[in-house]
This record gives sequence, structure tokens and C-alpha cells, in this order.
Amino acid sequence: MTPTVAKIFFVCCVVGWWLIRFPHERKVRKNAIKTDQRDRTEILLLGISLTGLGIIPIVYVFTGFPAFAERAFVPVGAWFGIATGLFSLWLFWRTHKELGRNWSVSLEVRDKHELITGGVYRYVRHPMYSAFFLWAVAQFLLLPNWAAGLSGVVGFGTLYLFRVGREEKLMLDAFGEQYRTYMERTARIVPWVH
Ligand code: SAH
Repeated sequence: MTPTVAKIFFVCCVVGWWLIRFPHERKVRKNAIKTDQRDRTEILLLGISLTGLGIIPIVYVFTGFPAFAERAFVPVGAWFGIATGLFSLWLFWRTHKELGRNWSVSLEVRDKHELITGGVYRYVRHPMYSAFFLWAVAQFLLLPNWAAGLSGVVGFGTLYLFRVGREEKLMLDAFGEQYRTYMERTARIVPWVH
């Protein structure tokens, strides 16, 4: 295991991520939106998250910037990074498949929105966010740079902290009691950790 292999794997994950998401984005476009909460805060949060999970690590992989933040490469850590990255991609794929036409990049309720509570949604109510956190962990383990390694946790953590409460409120408004009972029996992002 070398830093170059770890970086190539990370780039492959980014490509894999797009291969999962891009066809999905096209598919859900057909499903009209009923409630749209994509305000300025949401757009800013999406930008912060994209910067931390995507732009900063990709710039680092291709340019080595910021060189001053380089840290020692830990091969065992990188192996764990590969395992975590693969699991994150699997979970990401499952959540897209299970949410189906109910998914949106932002906070939206669609026409004929269906509440999904099965599959990976049986264990946690935000498994896609679990997948992003796992991605951020993989990013840290794979990239031997403090800035490029930690920007994912910071970027996605910011989106998550400001969004998750609003999302749950939106779901409660749309599904009422059904979502309330679903909340009672599920954890947010780590199974059984309520
Ligand atoms: N927080 C979820 C979904 C992220 S996508 C996860 O981490 O897996 C965001 C959109 O998904 C929101 O606009 C909301 O309308 C929708 N959503 C969230 N939970 C849902 C569920 N259990 N069933 C159906 N749609 C859901």
C-alpha cells in the first residue's frame, strides 16, 4: 500500500459516487416537487459539503496542495480506508435504490411522496448521511494530509448539523404520526445509538 494507490482508490470512489448519483438525478426530475425548502441556507450548506468532500480532496490529489499540511502515510489506516470507502459506496447505492423517486439533493417533499421505512431505512432514518460520514472517514484514512483528510468531516458535519433537524420537521409536517413512530424506533445515523 502506497500513498499513490490510496489516492487512486479515492478518485475511483469519487467516480463511483457519480455513477450512482447521476442517473438517479435524471430519473427523479420527472417526479414533481410539492414542498421546496431549498433556500439560501440549504444552497450554502450544499456548497460547504461539496467543497469538503469533493473539491478540496480532489485538488489535493492532483496538485498536492496544501503541502504544508502533509502528514505521515499510515498503510494500515489506508487499508481500513479502502474497506470504509467500499462500504460507504454500497450504502450510498442502497439508499438511492430504496429512496427511489422520493430522493432529492435538498429538502423537498415530492408529489406522491412515500415514506420509506424498510431496507437500510429500518436501522437508521438517515442512512444516506451515514454513508457520507463513512466517506469522510475513508477520506481521512486514505489521504495523508490534515487539510484534505479532515475537510470531509468538517464540510459534511456542517451540512448535517444544520440540516437534520429541519429535515425531520419537514417529514413530520408531511407524514405526522407515521414519521413520529418511525422516529421512535430508529436512530439517526448509527444503528441502535439513539
Ligand atoms: N436523510 C435521508 C434522506 C436524504 S435525501 C437519508 O440520509 O437517507 C433528502 C430527502 O429525502 C428529503 O428531502 C426528504 O424529503 C426525503 N426523505 C428523508 N427521509 C425519508 C424517508 N424515510 N422516506 C422518504 N423520503 C425521505
